Amino acid sequence: MEQNVQQNGFQVEHCRSNCPKSACNWQNLYETMVNKLNDLNLLQVLSQKINPIHYHHFPKISIAGCPNGCSQPDIKDFGISGYVVPQITQRQCAECNACVDACLEKALQRNSQEIIIDWSSCISCGDCLRVCPTGTLSAGEQGWTIRYGGRVGRHPRFSKLAGRVKNDDEAVSWISEALQQYITQGQQQERLTHFLEFVDLTLKKNENVQSGHVSNGLISEDQKP
Ligand code: SF4
Ligand code: SF4
Ligand code: SF4
Repeated sequence: MEQNVQQNGFQVEHCRSNCPKSACNWQNLYETMVNKLNDLNLLQVLSQKINPIHYHHFPKISIAGCPNGCSQPDIKDFGISGYVVPQITQRQCAECNACVDACLEKALQRNSQEIIIDWSSCISCGDCLRVCPTGTLSAGEQGWTIRYGGRVGRHPRFSKLAGRVKNDDEAVSWISEALQQYITQGQQQERLTHFLEFVDLTLKKNENVQSGHVSNGLISEDQKP
């Protein structure tokens, strides 16, 4: 799945295959994303905007299967991380405490009556539901958290939170539209990373889905349920 950035005009990276931590399957998203970006003919389009064009001018996109972000979505032009919101079902709890122990964010508590999730601390990683032996915790909403504007180098910065989308198509559309915005609204010779620094690409509240805190501390009020 490696790409020649200079030939394609973009780079899409991904995290490890078949990882048990994965909240969403990134393989389909990766394929759809690469196909869409190929259709945009970015090498030719960007060459008309920036001359001479070099490696660092091409969009870098990182896809991670969960909020752990092993493929470093926080420092790329566009970062996409899978999320899964835990759902408390009516199934009888075995009171094993596995979910409480599994939650590294200490977002989950159990008393004799119920399971309580602190949505302001939950990062929707899914660790709790994966260890639940009874199905009392199961997978609720799943999708992708999108960030933009991260970079390394002389003036590094973490990406900004755009919001969450529910499926692969919405993630690909968001990236595609953001790139189109750069192509049509960015100045001649303006780098993508500089364009992304000042533009607001935050998803509107009604485009977001339920969830809590998002992993790198860049929580917006819109993300809270
Ligand atoms: S980002 Fe998550 S799913 Fe991907 S390799 Fe890391 S822990 Fe596994
Ligand atoms: S999904 Fe939320 S409650 Fe469950 S382990 Fe992750 S952070 Fe904790
Ligand atoms: S892991 Fe499941 S069965 Fe065990 S305490 Fe948590 S909700 Fe109950």
